Amino acid sequence: MYIVLCAVVFTVAYLLNILTVSVGYHRAFAHQAVTLHPLLRRLVIGGGNWVTGLDPKAWIVMHRMHHEYSDTPLDPHSPVNVGILGMGLEQLRSYKRVIIGLLKKDPAYTRYARDLDFPVNVLIRRKLWYLPYLVHAFVALALAVWVGPLLGMMSHAIQGGLVNSLGHAVGGRNFDTDDNSRNNHLVAWLILGEGFQNNHHRYPASAKFSFRRHEIDLGYCACVSMEWLGWLEIHRNALIPRPPARAVWSLMRDTA
Ligand SMILES: [Zn+2]
Ligand SMILES: [Zn+2]
Repeated sequence: MYIVLCAVVFTVAYLLNILTVSVGYHRAFAHQAVTLHPLLRRLVIGGGNWVTGLDPKAWIVMHRMHHEYSDTPLDPHSPVNVGILGMGLEQLRSYKRVIIGLLKKDPAYTRYARDLDFPVNVLIRRKLWYLPYLVHAFVALALAVWVGPLLGMMSHAIQGGLVNSLGHAVGGRNFDTDDNSRNNHLVAWLILGEGFQNNHHRYPASAKFSFRRHEIDLGYCACVSMEWLGWLEIHRNALIPRPPARAVWSLMRDTA
């Protein structure tokens, strides 16, 4: 019974973490594929860092750089540059570099944030980035549910690592994009649609990352449910169009 309780708490923390990043940071802010209700928007901007341990502004800037320079030497996280195993350290290094760039108002970074009308989170500005981790650890101890909440939040590093590495290295392709993006079903199931990187890089403004019938984007299902509840609005005119007559199923691009 106790194990079940731990699993439930972990799952809730895990889903809350992914939904904040995938629906809030990614689909709403980075690509404006959905518009959040003003209250939810404020909640994500103010509380996102507490839920995920990641600053929304830095995440968005790093992600926009990833789209601009996908799988080139300037990509902040590409397995083409550092390999699948090097991703953990690479994304952490890049995140830190983006934070420093934004705090110094370096145009190389602020140019990706012109439409973002909120600063880098106060926790980061006051060098208190570790506080959310302590709070999650404290909640875990207080509820005596092992480390469910902490693991749920800490899972962002693994989620990001899986999307950023396998999503650009292992899987099929529907579109012959300039990058090495892939559609990885395992990652898509685990991280609510984020594994469909090839579809997403072809149509980044679409709130829906799935494309074919057997591709399931649970993050988009969450968006539809949240829209039904009045929490957000999906920009359907930007949804990806009908499939091309002939899909491209190329092997991994030769990056040597
Ligand atoms: Zn990508
Ligand atoms: Zn994106």
